[in-house]
Amino acid sequence: MSLTKKILIALILGVIVGIGFTFAPSEVFSPVDTYVLTPVGQIFLNLIMMIVVPIVFVSIVLGTAGLGDPTKLGKIGFQTISFYLVTTAIALVIGLGVAYVLEPGTAGTFDTENAEFEAESTPPVMETLINIIPDNPFGALASGDMLQIIAFALFIGIAIAFLGEKTAGIHRLFEQANEILIWLVNIIMKTAPYGAFALIASAIGDAGLDAIGSMAMYMVAVILGLIIHATVTYSLAIWVLGKANPLTFYKGFFPAMSVGFSTSSSSATLPISMRAAQENLGVKKSISSFVQPLGATINMDGTAIMQAVATVFISQVYAIPLEFTDILMVVLTATLASIGTAGVPSVGLIMLAMVLQQIGLPVEGIALIVGVDRILDMLRTSLNITGDATAAYVISESDKRKEAKQK
Ligand code: ASP
Repeated sequence: MSLTKKILIALILGVIVGIGFTFAPSEVFSPVDTYVLTPVGQIFLNLIMMIVVPIVFVSIVLGTAGLGDPTKLGKIGFQTISFYLVTTAIALVIGLGVAYVLEPGTAGTFDTENAEFEAESTPPVMETLINIIPDNPFGALASGDMLQIIAFALFIGIAIAFLGEKTAGIHRLFEQANEILIWLVNIIMKTAPYGAFALIASAIGDAGLDAIGSMAMYMVAVILGLIIHATVTYSLAIWVLGKANPLTFYKGFFPAMSVGFSTSSSSATLPISMRAAQENLGVKKSISSFVQPLGATINMDGTAIMQAVATVFISQVYAIPLEFTDILMVVLTATLASIGTAGVPSVGLIMLAMVLQQIGLPVEGIALIVGVDRILDMLRTSLNITGDATAAYVISESDKRKEAKQK
């Protein structure tokens, strides 16, 4: 049986077993979760996280060294960031549109009296931008600061490209390190069905379905927004800009989407999503290794959709209507918030706090959506990484076409 099929079965079984657990008494779920699901899931998660930093570092160094020409790097960088900004803005508009049509905040009673939420602070955007160049690259590698790792790797890659023959040895060393890492990803991928099953069953069993209640409409709005963005925005990009069939794209990228779904972390899923893009979709290695790690940190369309829906939802629950300028502010703050925050579970809520503060909505409103956020986090993470892969695919295809023309 192919790996994709196995993962699909694991995903379905994970959802069924997870839902089954929500009906079982906690004396049944708790030991199974503590002694089976959580350890199996956590071991899988650790296995992939173990190689995130090395693979991002090594593949960006190699990709940059392989491009050779720094102006080409600039062009790809420009295309990537433009693609990310435009798709995030579209995602926010879709989220706002769906929320205004479905009006989830008027669809039930909400306990705003007891709502409490302690907002964590996010780093100021200017600080994040300045700190992209790390003062201590080893510190960046140790703490897994993705933007700093990307910057450091770019510098090393450019140096290797310029020095050419003089650094042939270290270039070769990076190539060999890359071989090792790819080999490891392929091995780890074989455990994905088990890991995904355990993570999904545990997450759904833990979240419970009783939290849904009056939040059902909010969830429907977020999920609908995610579906529209995937089927319209990305599919159009793949079809028009990538000149490919979106279904083929989704089939090839599915293993990564399911791992994104089970881990709720774009960063942790990186090794798998880069592998899927390069091997199943034929994305150029030099492009995938730059575009996808960058996207895992700065491009989160699924999260943007959730923030848009949540903002409208909270404004409806507290009956504080949003002005047009507030809506523009939501788009601006949500886009900027994603730059400084890494793709890890639940980070979307921290970003949402920033958006709410900016337009003067009560941050405690987040308490209302926390209960159902775990499941939505799984779904939006899948979309987040799909956005990164779409960008990589489209840019790689246009680069291939340009090369073919030059020949
Ligand atoms: N978990 C998401 C990600 O890693 C971010 C979020 O929306 O919380 O992409």
